[in-house]
Amino acid sequence: MKPLFTEDNLVVLESLAKRRALYAFDFDGTLAPIVQSHEEAQISKMTYGYLKQLNDLVPLAIISGRNEKDLESRLLFKPKYVIGSHGFDEESPGLGEALETCNQWSRFLENSLLIEKNLLGIEIENKGCSIAVHFRKAEDKGKSRLEILNSIANLETSSRVILGKAVINIIPSGVPNKGASFLKLMMHEQVESALYVGDDDTDEDVFSLNYNNIVTVRIGEKENSNAQFYLKVQNDVNKLLRHLLDYNRHLHKKNAHFL
Ligand SMILES: [Mg+2]
Repeated sequence: MKPLFTEDNLVVLESLAKRRALYAFDFDGTLAPIVQSHEEAQISKMTYGYLKQLNDLVPLAIISGRNEKDLESRLLFKPKYVIGSHGFDEESPGLGEALETCNQWSRFLENSLLIEKNLLGIEIENKGCSIAVHFRKAEDKGKSRLEILNSIANLETSSRVILGKAVINIIPSGVPNKGASFLKLMMHEQVESALYVGDDDTDEDVFSLNYNNIVTVRIGEKENSNAQFYLKVQNDVNKLLRHLLDYNRHLHKKNAHFL
């Protein structure tokens, strides 16, 4: 991984503005800082301002594991694309099955973790098409992680488990991942290139696409990540948005001049 904010690397970002490109961002930990309770996550006024301006210039997408309604209520404006539940929309085949599976999992995990094992500081969030088990508030995070994984191993339906920072995501097999949703969006927008910014292990599905027309940025440097570039801290996303606005505005002005 390379730092994004160097002269050479910013050229890569600038070159996106010269072509028709899609700009996509994850929400938690990327646009919004990670907070104790996932219910309280929100974007800063500054991030909101930049995103809203960028949405007027380029096709903008927010892709998250949160469901679409929850996501929209936290953005305070309507970007061109809000993709919730990792991209599982109402037209996707198997939606009913995935919803039913998540309901079953949610009941099973509540019983297993909160009642039988009596673990404290654990939150089970049913996102509809996936389950997130948060253990940010747990006193012994290592022990909690193990107990959660043990319970997950007893689920009856096959699942895909993605480990995050203080969260374990459980996704029914067949639910699309962020990488597939991102590519679908690129095709739909008919763009030549794209930017994707994320912070977590579910974002690795996009980072590992490894296409030379996709620029990938991770919040935080991480040894095994497939992202090309990194930002040191979440707040740096504002600097990134400012750069994107500058590059795209500059180009719009130039094009307006020729019209
Ligand atoms: Mg995230």
